[in-house]
Amino acid sequence: MPGGFRPKLNICHMYPDLLNLYGDRGNIMAFSRRCLWRGIQVEVHPVSIGDKVAFSRMDFVFLGGGSDREQNLMAADLMERTGDLREAIEDGLAVLAICGGYQLLGKYYRTITGEVIPGLGILDLYTEGGQKRLIGNVAVEVELGGARQKITGFENHSGRTYLGNLEPLGDVLAGHGNNGEDGKEGARYKNVICSYLHGPILPKNPFITDHLISRALERRYREAFLEPLDDSLEEAANRVMLKRLLG
Ligand code: GLN
Repeated sequence: MPGGFRPKLNICHMYPDLLNLYGDRGNIMAFSRRCLWRGIQVEVHPVSIGDKVAFSRMDFVFLGGGSDREQNLMAADLMERTGDLREAIEDGLAVLAICGGYQLLGKYYRTITGEVIPGLGILDLYTEGGQKRLIGNVAVEVELGGARQKITGFENHSGRTYLGNLEPLGDVLAGHGNNGEDGKEGARYKNVICSYLHGPILPKNPFITDHLISRALERRYREAFLEPLDDSLEEAANRVMLKRLLG
């Protein structure tokens, strides 16, 4: 940031003990690191069942993925936070929700055993469990803030997610995406990004990380200026993966 001003962002990591599949914690690390490298201070607030949090005071909320069992364990606790979270999201809170976390922001997730895990209903989407798990590496073409990029990640889910009146995050180039049928991956609403991509998504795709950091800074400080970083390693890894997946 110019002018010696040291902004600070509050990062909320929801249920780090329950929703932590495939290195999802790396999303917190990537978000924090890319802030610190630019002189933006961060404070990480882990929040689990029963812990208090005021979403209005948070700048970035991360909800990771989990097994059906773990989702069931924390769903009721998350439900109690619906009003507060909805209000902050409407106010422009930056949120990243992956896989299980993504499903829970929708209306419901009916697991393959027929059990219905109610969602918060903040986003117009629902999820139905399918017999065959959708597993593997994924490439998605995403347009964010006027820029178009191909991102990569790893998916492993039984749930098939169907969007109502909601924009997808992007178009599937390789892999299954939301449901293996409509060629769409993830969802977007205001400053919320939802995706099935573990990997984790943020270290692999700095473009998404910087988008979330910018939105968080704009909401808190009315402006965002992100100094460019050296992303040559991430870009090289992205090229290798895209070549493997798309030829
Ligand atoms: N349990 C959910 C499913 O199988 C989410 C899995 C995940 O977060 N990877 O669809």
